[in-house]
Order: sequence, then C-alpha cells, then structure tokens
Amino acid sequence: MSYIGRLAPSPTGAQHLGNARTFMVAWLACRSEKGKLLLRIEDLDTPRTKEGATEQLLEDLRWLGLDWDAACDASYTTQSDRESRYRQVLHDLQERELVYPCTCTRSEIDRVASAPHESALDGAIYPGTCAARSAADARSLDAEKTPYSWRFRMPCGLREFHDQRFGPQSLDAKLRLGDFIVARSYGVTAYQLAVVVDDHDAKINHVVRGSDLIYSTYRQLAIYEAMDWTPPNWLHLPLVVGPDGRRLAKRHGDTRLSTFREQGVAPESILGFLAQTLGITADKTPVRLSDLLAHVSGEPNWIQRIPLANCTLLGNQFP
Ligand code: GLU
Repeated sequence: MSYIGRLAPSPTGAQHLGNARTFMVAWLACRSEKGKLLLRIEDLDTPRTKEGATEQLLEDLRWLGLDWDAACDASYTTQSDRESRYRQVLHDLQERELVYPCTCTRSEIDRVASAPHESALDGAIYPGTCAARSAADARSLDAEKTPYSWRFRMPCGLREFHDQRFGPQSLDAKLRLGDFIVARSYGVTAYQLAVVVDDHDAKINHVVRGSDLIYSTYRQLAIYEAMDWTPPNWLHLPLVVGPDGRRLAKRHGDTRLSTFREQGVAPESILGFLAQTLGITADKTPVRLSDLLAHVSGEPNWIQRIPLANCTLLGNQFP
C-alpha cells in the first residue's frame, strides 16, 4: 500500500522549532517512501485559534522548504469546513450508545476524579458521573437548555499499538484515561473525533506527531475500533523542551520560525540544527531539505536512530 502521510498544524500561534521538527520528520518519512503528503489545518480549538495564523503557518512551512500534495481540488483541508461530516459520525456513535451526553464541568470533574492527580496520565480521569445517561437524554437537556458535551465510552481492557519509534505500547485505557469528549458543549467537534474522521477519510496510513499525543492514540484507537476502520501506523516523536524540561513555550524565549526568518536566519541553519538533534547528521552544519532527503533515503534505519529522550533547547542556537 502506498504511503499517505499528513502535516496537521493547529493555527493557535506561530509555529516554533518543535513544530518544525515534527513536520520535517513527517515530510522526510513520507517523501523517502515516495508517498503522498496532505496538509490539514486543525482549527477546531476555537478559543485558541488566532486570526491570520493559517497564512502565517503556510508561510513558515514553505520557508522551510516543505511541500505537500493537493487534496481533491484544494491545496489543503480545514477542519472547520468538515463539521457536517463529523456530525454524521457522531450521530452513528449516538445511535449505537457509544457516546453519552455529559453535563460535568471541568472543575466538577477535578473535584470528583477518583484517581489521585499524580496517577492521571493525561488530565483528570472522568469519574463516570453521567455515564448512566443514554443518547436520547440529550433531548431533555436540550429542552432545559442545559449545556452538555458528548463523551465516548472507552471500552474496558488492555489497548495496544505499535509505535514506529517507541515500540509496543499498551494501557488499560478505561482505567488510566477514562471516557473522553468527542463533541464540545458549544457545539464544536473535539480533536479526538475530528482527527480520526479526517485521517480515515483521507486514507492516511502514517501519522507522525509529538509524543504529547501518545495517550490520545489510545482514545483514537477506540474510535477506529468502534467505526470498524483501519488505524494508521503511528510515529510519535520526543518533544523539544526548554532547559526546565517543559514543552517549548514563550517562557523559553522566542523560538518562532517567523522570528528567525525576520532575523535573517537561513532555513538551512534551522534544518541543520534539527537534523543533528534527530541523529540524522553528525553536526549542525546548514543543510537543504533535498540533501536530507537524499541522506535518509539511503538509510533505512534513520527513524530508529532518533533519540528517545526529549530534545532540550539550551539558549539561542542561531546567533
Ligand atoms: N494539530 C496537532 C498539533 O498541532 C497535531 C494533531 C495530530 O497530529 O494528530 O499538535
């Protein structure tokens, strides 16, 4: 089966070095297999989606030298254009009682969550307060004008997948993650559902993304299973973190690609630095994307050589 991958940026702010590292690996992994690479703008996180951020991220990607293939007639797809398709799938899940309406607020969940906070892998575990509801209960909530989200019933038992770099993964996802939201109370589809519907519809068979989403993979697998769809192969990448070990953010200084561009840093310098952190090259000598492609195309094990530890950014790398 031919390789179909994707770049899935969120227009929630300027793209930084961490995003660039993920996109670069997604691009190299796909192009070295002569695959098709699609671009999807993940703009459903409305409160955090920034005006003009899509144009900015397209510019950032092009500046790095990344390209992608057209999807149908468009150069890329945008999640907010696909709400009716997500609703269709949600309706199917409702019909089969695989989701239920949940009126709990985040603070209520935090208060009731049975697991001590430290053992929650990825936010508080939903305590099941609304799990006895059936999908039809949404009608009375509508009549009362009570806001509710839709929560997916995570099946019991061990869930497993193979990560291309981290190897075999398994977790009792019901116990450790719990039921999760697939549609928000303000009527927007949640990331977990949208991403599965999008990847399935676009026939994506390879997903490359940050390891912060590794727990989401268990949730997405449960949706694939419920829909009887074939999941893609996953490659989660260790994150770029600041000297404090936390995910790259403003407090770590300005690592936005747009800032480097404005400062006159060459994209080849960024690529050279990232290639070294990924174990693709021995030093951070500036390099073109086409040279990196030629390099990895002749190195079948390059993905296995990506360091498993997070990549710590120490100060400005591009004087
Ligand atoms: N939009 C997500 C991000 O920018 C990526 C989601 C995914 O790859 O599944 O982090």
